[in-house]
Amino acid sequence: MSNGKPKIVITDCDHPSVEIEREVLSEIDPEFILAQCNTEDEVIEVAKDADGIINQYAPITRRVIESLKRCKVIVRYGVGVDNIDVEAATEHKIIVANVPDYCIDEVSTHALALILACARGITLLDRKRRAKRWDFTLAKPLFRTQGKTLGLFGLGRIGRMVAQKASGFDFRIIAYDPYVSKVDGGIKLVEFSQLLPDSDFVSIHVPLTAETRHSFGENELKKMKKTAYLINTSRGPIVDEKALYQALKNRWIAGAALDVMEKEPPDWNSSLLQLDNLIITPHISFYSEESYVELKTKVAQAVLSVLKGELPRPIVNPQVVKG
Ligand code: NAD
Repeated sequence: MSNGKPKIVITDCDHPSVEIEREVLSEIDPEFILAQCNTEDEVIEVAKDADGIINQYAPITRRVIESLKRCKVIVRYGVGVDNIDVEAATEHKIIVANVPDYCIDEVSTHALALILACARGITLLDRKRRAKRWDFTLAKPLFRTQGKTLGLFGLGRIGRMVAQKASGFDFRIIAYDPYVSKVDGGIKLVEFSQLLPDSDFVSIHVPLTAETRHSFGENELKKMKKTAYLINTSRGPIVDEKALYQALKNRWIAGAALDVMEKEPPDWNSSLLQLDNLIITPHISFYSEESYVELKTKVAQAVLSVLKGELPRPIVNPQVVKG
C-alpha cells in the first residue's frame, strides 16, 4: 500500500485500453499501474509491493512470487494459468484466479471454423485466388463431412461446446479425456490410442500441463489417418511443431490448423510457416467484442473481491482459503 492506497499492477496487457478494469477497481481508489513486462526481473521491479496483480503473458515464476511482499491475489486474463507458478503462489498463500468461462462460445466457434476451413480448402483456395488461380482442383481431395469422425482431445467446457455445435454438421463425435467418466448422448469416450486412428479431425481442448506437453509428436501423428486434420486452439506446446512439420511435409496427415504456437509470435522464417497445408491464426480464438468486455470486467472484479476481503469465483488454488 502506498499513501494508504492498495497497489494494483497489471504486469502486461495487449488490449487497447484498461478503462474497464480501472472503472471496476475505482471502488477501492487504488494506485493503478499498467506495465508491459516481458521478463521476471521486470515483473519483480514493478510488482514487488503490489497488493493485487493482473497478468496476461508475463512470467509469474517461483522467483517472482518469492519477491512479492504483500500480494494477496494474482488474476490471469484468460483461462490457462500455465505462465503462473500456482504451487509457489499456494505456498505463499496468494490466491490465483482466472476467468474460465468468458470465451467458450468464441473458442468453440473458432475451432469449428478451422475444422470447416480445412474440410473445404478455404484458406488454400483464397491464397491461390490472390495469385490469380481460379481452380478448385487445387484443393483436391476434399471429402464430405457428414458422418466423418471428429475426435476431441479434452472434453471440458470448450470441448463439449465444440461437440454441441459440430453435431449440427452430422459429425460422429468421439472424445478422449481420462478425467471425464460421463458424457451426454452423442459423444463416445475412447482411449487416446483409438482417437488417433479413428478421427478425420482431431481438435485439441486440454490445458497445457506436464502431462499434455507434446501430446502430438511423431508417434501420435503417424497414428492419425493420412486424410486427417489436426486443429489446435488450446496451447501451442501441446503439439511438437518439429514433428508437425514432418507430418505435414511428408503427408502423414492431410493438414493442420493452429491458433496457438510453441512460440508466439512465431519465427517468421520457420519452414513450418511456408507449408500450404497449414492454417495459422494469431491466438485469436478467445476474442470477440463481447468476450473482451466480459474478461476485463471479471478479472477486475476478482481482484476487487479479494482486496475487499471477499472470495472471487472461481479460484484456481482453493487450498489457500480452505486452511
Ligand atoms: P476445461 O478445464 O473446462 O477443460 C479441459 C479438459 O481437459 C478437462 O475436461 C480435463 O479433464 C481435460 N484434460 C486434462 N488433462 C488431460 C489429458 N492429459 N488428456 C485428455 N484430457 C485432459 O478447459 P476449457 O475451458 O475447455 O479450455 C481448454 C483450454 O483451451 C484451456 O486450458 C486453454 O489453454 C485453451 N484456451 C485457448 C484460448 C485461445 O484463445 N486460443 C482461449 C481459451 C482457452
